[in-house]
Amino acid sequence: MTAHQVPAWLADRNPTSDRARVEQCRTCQQPVIRALVGRIGAIDIRVDPAPVGHVEEIAARLAGRWTYCLQIRPHLPARLLDRHQWHIAGGRCTHLVLAQHDCPGRRPAGPIQEALL
Ligand SMILES: [Zn+2]
Ligand SMILES: [Zn+2]
Repeated sequence: MTAHQVPAWLADRNPTSDRARVEQCRTCQQPVIRALVGRIGAIDIRVDPAPVGHVEEIAARLAGRWTYCLQIRPHLPARLLDRHQWHIAGGRCTHLVLAQHDCPGRRPAGPIQEALL
């Protein structure tokens, strides 16, 4: 069986696949990169495709959005990696840093406190 003969359902639903793929957000229709992050108990993650710098990463994390590393390898599919505290503490890595998708369709219309009162 060659790679072209693998059924689409098998290629797309491989539960151990952490390969990154470009999709459209169902809510805002913007392009996002989606992947399963983590080998065990993986989380289905969507990130914005534009890489972020140090300041933007801090701003994203302060806003409650996680950041991930996009690992691009020459002969293998791209992967999203968890950007945990030890990865960040290790200094400048060679990956592109991407922030969790900031979906404009899911932001509250106004301050939550005013909406509750
Ligand atoms: Zn990295
Ligand atoms: Zn969205």
